[in-house]
Amino acid sequence: MPVPASLRPLLPDLPAGAVTRFAPSPTGLLHLGHVHAALFADALARAAGGRFLLRLEDIDGTRCRPHFAAAIETDLAWLGLRWAGPVRVQSRHMPEYRAALARLEARGLLYPCFCSRAGIQREIAAAGGAPQGPDGPAYPGTCRRLSADERAARLAAGAPHALRLDMAAALAAAPPGLSFHELGEGRLPCDPAPFGDVVLARKEIPASYHLCVTHDDALQGVTLVTRGLDLKPATHLHRLLQALLGWPEPAYAHHGLILGADGRRLAKRDRAPSLQALRAAGHGPEEVRRLAGW
Ligand code: GLU
Repeated sequence: MPVPASLRPLLPDLPAGAVTRFAPSPTGLLHLGHVHAALFADALARAAGGRFLLRLEDIDGTRCRPHFAAAIETDLAWLGLRWAGPVRVQSRHMPEYRAALARLEARGLLYPCFCSRAGIQREIAAAGGAPQGPDGPAYPGTCRRLSADERAARLAAGAPHALRLDMAAALAAAPPGLSFHELGEGRLPCDPAPFGDVVLARKEIPASYHLCVTHDDALQGVTLVTRGLDLKPATHLHRLLQALLGWPEPAYAHHGLILGADGRRLAKRDRAPSLQALRAAGHGPEEVRRLAGW
């Protein structure tokens, strides 16, 4: 598969031997947006003489389904993609994420949060609003201010809780002047503060996207993170987590999103046509790659 013209400006900046990955969540069938993301990661790995990996980000057992996971592998193989080594399936590695959380906790950078979503909303409304962060309004810090006794009593009573990063403490503990390398743009300064005290382990799932993605990119030796522009703001937080946990820094390449006929980004929930539907309608891999902007 040749490198499309749109990728050429990135090539001079490409780390030699770059390891990339496609990391979908098996919450539905792959659509053209995923095809674009997978081809982008694969093309950059090829151009760098590196490796392309596949990872299933399936920690949310309420939304992920094994038959979607199986369909991802079938669809990618049909497209002509081959990934190096075994597929990393996040849900099989929860103890590893717990260990990473324990390291942050031991440094006093996490605290338990007992709030409900509705309770947080009420509090934000009562305060007349909250600064908007990349993942939604910043948490007002209610449980950060609990006394040690109160916290211990609630934990002893088995109250369900999330784990939040104490952003002020985390920023104080991290080296100053964090930045990230975006291919074709050079070094960009990081500003993770707008995330506020972000959730790193959810109440119902003892981990989170931000924690698992940075953990696994480090563990799998990913040296070039490729993903859609919608996730570029998350990079500011990911660099902070990498710095706190002593994980290596990958380079980043965020690609544009494939838009539907209505000009909005494709999403499973909007019934964007799946790869399976396109295949059933008689389209071949070449045609699907073209439809995905390749
Ligand atoms: N799992 C994420 C998604 O489905 C992508 C993660 C990443 O590439 O950082 O959008």
